Amino acid sequence: MRRIAIVGGGQAGLPLALGLLSKGYEVTVVTNRTPDDIHRGKVMSSQCMFDPSLQIERDLGLNQWEAACPPVEGIGFAVPHPESKGAKLIDWSARLDRPAQSVDQRVKMPVWLEQVEARGGRVLIQDAGVAELEALADSHDLVLLAAGKGEVVRLFERDAARSPFDKPQRALALTYVHGLEKTPEYSRVAFNLIPGVGEYFVFPALTLSGPCDIMVFEGVPGGPLDFWRDIRTPQEHLAASKRFLETYLPWEADRARRAELTDDNGILAGAFAPTVRKPVMTLPSGKLVFGLGDAVVTNDPITGQGANNATKACKVYLDAILAHGEQPYTRGWMEHTFEQFWDYARWVVQWTNSLLTPPPPHVLQLLGAAANLPSLAGVVANGFNHPPSYFPWWADQVECERLISSHQVVSVSAAA
Ligand SMILES: Cc1cc2nc3c(=O)[nH]c(=O)nc-3n(C[C@H](O)[C@H](O)[C@H](O)COP(=O)(O)OP(=O)(O)OC[C@H]3O[C@@H](n4cnc5c(N)ncnc54)[C@H](O)[C@@H]3O)c2cc1C
Repeated sequence: MRRIAIVGGGQAGLPLALGLLSKGYEVTVVTNRTPDDIHRGKVMSSQCMFDPSLQIERDLGLNQWEAACPPVEGIGFAVPHPESKGAKLIDWSARLDRPAQSVDQRVKMPVWLEQVEARGGRVLIQDAGVAELEALADSHDLVLLAAGKGEVVRLFERDAARSPFDKPQRALALTYVHGLEKTPEYSRVAFNLIPGVGEYFVFPALTLSGPCDIMVFEGVPGGPLDFWRDIRTPQEHLAASKRFLETYLPWEADRARRAELTDDNGILAGAFAPTVRKPVMTLPSGKLVFGLGDAVVTNDPITGQGANNATKACKVYLDAILAHGEQPYTRGWMEHTFEQFWDYARWVVQWTNSLLTPPPPHVLQLLGAAANLPSLAGVVANGFNHPPSYFPWWADQVECERLISSHQVVSVSAAA
């Protein structure tokens, strides 16, 4: 049977490893943290995954936490009124057709890593660089690099044509809490956009100590939400999170009044530039390494798509490997497989990047109109499941106006 090496034990690498093992492939996973390191380490993501990605996990038998994890049943969108503190300029919410879920990667990855060994795979704990990749390429038919944002992925050439930004567009922070008040009617990603300042969104999840909520802060660089680098302790991080909400989003501050950290590692702060890389790397020996997940397509978390993308890429790659049988894994096959994924991912990247710059008037009009048109709000909310569905109207004023009008007609005829 063919031998496949996967470097990086995360959301992209491990489902692929487990999928290949279930089809009888010989799989080696090389990763730089043990299950215990991950379990005891810091949170890495807010990892909200929408139903199509959850379905891929279900199909691979990797939905172990589905019953324990609280559902995310909808999307809410609010913009504070610029002149009247505590009032909202835009405010709507809509249900997702099927719930999303977020399982802390500190819960998931250690179990999946152990599962790789239990299913006959080999796990090496190693910080892989060029020498390790060469050794893997000598002993395996295919080497995939799924090392997320690890230094080693810089060996893939940045694809300047597909990467409009060369600097971080947001100062990012996560605060995992217990004790946050629920939203009325149904649970949701409560997304708040503060023009010129940044974004705050919060939603239910499952962490090491059970159900929790994850607060995600996205600060425009140099603005009032870009203060995390001065914070020294977890309690200061929580206090700063609450203070920001008091100042800018009082309705969210009310929900967070009794919030406490889930644990001292339930916080994160950092920044990175959204980047697309060329998917094939040539080692000094001439052998090839194929990139997967964040290693080759890193999105800003503003749209919550990175873990979804990693999972969808994993599915495209798994199907391509299985379909390829005993044929050699050439550069052409790797590039073709990546382009199959890119046919989907380019829309995710375009939509996500569009939210990092001030929105054009037609998008503001759309987000405002959704407040009075529930069916339109439903379309915008459910786009998170499959971002290609936002196009062409997200990027095209005429198409966007047409979409809004079609929902106005629906709403008038429903009222008649
Ligand atoms: C603040 C924040 C919030 C986010 N929220 C969401 C969200 O709500 N929804 C969503 O879909 N996505 C979200 N994401 C993105 C998501 O977490 C990532 O896109 C996803 O985890 C990528 O999976 P991956 O397997 O490619 O990389 P990773 O999950 O980063 O896994 C890479 C693995 O490789 C290992 N590794 C690194 N270097 C080496 C090396 N040299 N040798 C061996 N092993 C190595 C790492 O230890 C790690 O285990 C968020 C990200 C951030 C930063």
